Amino acid sequence: MSNDLDIWRTLPARQQPSWPDQGELAAAFAELSGLPPLVTAPEVRSLTDRLAMVARGEAFLLQGGDCAETFAANTANKIRDKVKTLLQMAVALTYGASTPVVKVARIAGQYAKPRSADIESSTGLPSYRGDAVNDIAATPEARRPDPKRMVAAYHQSAAALNLVRAFATGGFADLSKVHEWNKAFVRDSAAGRRYELMAVDIERALAFMAACGIDLERTAALTGVEIFTSHEGLLMEYERALTRTEESTGEVYDLSAHMIWIGERTRDLDGAHVDFLSRVGNPIGCKVGPTASPDDVLALTERLNPEHIPGRLTLIARMGAKRVRDVLPPIIDKVNAAGHPVVWSCDPMHGNTQDVSGVKTRHFDDVLDEVFGFFEVHRGLGTHPGGLHIELTGENVTECLGGAEQIGEADLGGRYETACDPRLNTGQALELAFLVAEMLQQ
Ligand code: PEP
Ligand code: MN
Repeated sequence: MSNDLDIWRTLPARQQPSWPDQGELAAAFAELSGLPPLVTAPEVRSLTDRLAMVARGEAFLLQGGDCAETFAANTANKIRDKVKTLLQMAVALTYGASTPVVKVARIAGQYAKPRSADIESSTGLPSYRGDAVNDIAATPEARRPDPKRMVAAYHQSAAALNLVRAFATGGFADLSKVHEWNKAFVRDSAAGRRYELMAVDIERALAFMAACGIDLERTAALTGVEIFTSHEGLLMEYERALTRTEESTGEVYDLSAHMIWIGERTRDLDGAHVDFLSRVGNPIGCKVGPTASPDDVLALTERLNPEHIPGRLTLIARMGAKRVRDVLPPIIDKVNAAGHPVVWSCDPMHGNTQDVSGVKTRHFDDVLDEVFGFFEVHRGLGTHPGGLHIELTGENVTECLGGAEQIGEADLGGRYETACDPRLNTGQALELAFLVAEMLQQ
């Protein structure tokens, strides 16, 4: 089995750093290989089970977090606020969909980025490829790919995951508490006011449960949540080093996170990423952009989930608001006709990036339009719009335009803090969740 796990080494691997020193790389690989896994095989299997429910139309997937985590921003408050935003979104969506919401964070490992160019045109320096590779500071030393940063990324991930696990079960995520936060959003923000009726409805549902004798403070299903982790499986050496064989079953899992996805730039059928991830037992995501043909997507689906395991594969469409209604239907038709039980998720971020006076941004209206288009397509075909994949933060950053706070071009400079792509701020993320919840109710 382990030989097969290294077939990727004979295949073209896109988007890998030019590690300057093979000795350093081998040392980092050896160190990572000896460290404990970040997640466990049974947890990974339970995410597959949850996603199988999504594939069957019995649940909804919410995946979200930073475009690129950074070591500097891996702080208690930032982690808390991201988790809080995800939980708030999930409560609104649970109410809207009347089904469970599977929560998968882009957290505790989202440290490597694909880039459009090796060399950054503005500085002539090697591009920043994420904190697991180099440093964002614009100097030649900072931009030198350093394999030790992969080990640092592992430790940062472990610290973040420890806190996420504590938040998930330690009382922070109680339904009644999350509902109080949502009430504050509805009361205190322009974005929230529209959703007063929904907040009142949720309040009534909680009162009804309490009246029926359900102790909201003591019912496990209402006081703890499952939060799974995910990141793009981009750095082959990192993912390989954290891949382990479960002794009791002989099954192989990439235990750097529960779910690993393949990016738009590395989804070549004959490339290293697809080969390697086809051999691990995790739930796998695969981004699908507007250049993918229905045949391409079917071939990827066959390759990544030949046994048709429900929950194994999530196809994350990132088509852009202008394209989604045209390009997505034939893809869904093709994959469905072959009987594949995939989760269909919508990433309304990456097909809607625009440049405004040299600043990378996205307009909230385009994000919404793509989500609406995604739902329309699924309604038209009678298929399940399974989930959302969002870049978001728990703070009031000003990286995406629009939303109820009407962030304008002049505001982008205020709090533009992302190390890579622009993220929805808390208000925009919650507004999106409430809008989608409304749509799911219909
Ligand atoms: C991302 O999710 O941050 C990303 C790079 O997306 P994509 O691969 O879809 O471009
Ligand atoms: Mn991104």
